[in-house]
Amino acid sequence: MRIAGLIVVRDEIQNKLEGLVRKRGFEGSWVDDDEEIIRLKEEIRARVAEVEGLCRTHGTNPGALPMPSRRCYSWMNFLIQEPNLQMHLHCLATSYREANAAMGECRSRLQKNGKFQIEFYSISAIFRTKKAKREMRILASEGFIGASRQVLGSLIACAVNKGGSGDRERMLTYTGGDAYQRIIRELNQHTSSGVNGKGKIYDLNRVYERVNQRYFAGEMDKPELCWTQRQTVRMYGRYRLGTDTVSISLSLDDARVPEFVVEYVMYHELLHQLLGVDIVRGRRRSHTREFHRYEKSFDRYNEAQMFLKEWSKSRRK
Ligand SMILES: [Zn+2]
Repeated sequence: MRIAGLIVVRDEIQNKLEGLVRKRGFEGSWVDDDEEIIRLKEEIRARVAEVEGLCRTHGTNPGALPMPSRRCYSWMNFLIQEPNLQMHLHCLATSYREANAAMGECRSRLQKNGKFQIEFYSISAIFRTKKAKREMRILASEGFIGASRQVLGSLIACAVNKGGSGDRERMLTYTGGDAYQRIIRELNQHTSSGVNGKGKIYDLNRVYERVNQRYFAGEMDKPELCWTQRQTVRMYGRYRLGTDTVSISLSLDDARVPEFVVEYVMYHELLHQLLGVDIVRGRRRSHTREFHRYEKSFDRYNEAQMFLKEWSKSRRK
């Protein structure tokens, strides 16, 4: 099922958020009893109820929607929880202020009267910049809404003109931190149905539970779990910080693949979640010496490695 029009709704809300922020000259105080904010929140709440109603009629739930609709639903649901909408508006206002200051310094990059837009949303990357001749749009992760003015300034610098290594470092340190992760988790929690982890042979939810108990004393926060769409054999797993998601290659959802191999790949990706990324001279490094030390404590580490090597070879033929 696809909820047609949800992306249009998303754009409408983004435009309203922008309108509100521009009207206040980027200096709004965004208090709880602000009438315009209350009205906007009611509108979003109505949309959320609409999606839930539609899902009920179709005998499904929002967690089972296709990704774009699901993202939109969880984003809207996130915004109506206190104090997220206020935080979002505050962050948006600060970002425009920072952007105006940055643009002042390099006006040639964006011609006069060109359209410039910043949006915060549920995306898998930390940010994306879309540039056209007289238009620039920065799409950044909702995880930034709790960021300081300095972090937002660095984000804008990186998005507009790549920024310096200091900017990259400040931005990546924030995205690797607790504040960012908390927001991403809250954003995902309304749609964590676990359905995307259920494969033909293996259920990643169960694989995760076992690995979590065995190696992390049951203390890891559960990320989003999913199988990749395609049968990748070069990359068996991936941890995405932006959405706190572990994806495992569909090629491993196969009865010929032993369970401990899937567990090993899960373990590897959960280590990324646990250890985060080291930032060296503005670059992210994730397979550090410390990482490998942890990785080798997997019970059948060598066997799992060997199996994956052979599996790649046999699948490439
Ligand atoms: Zn890795």
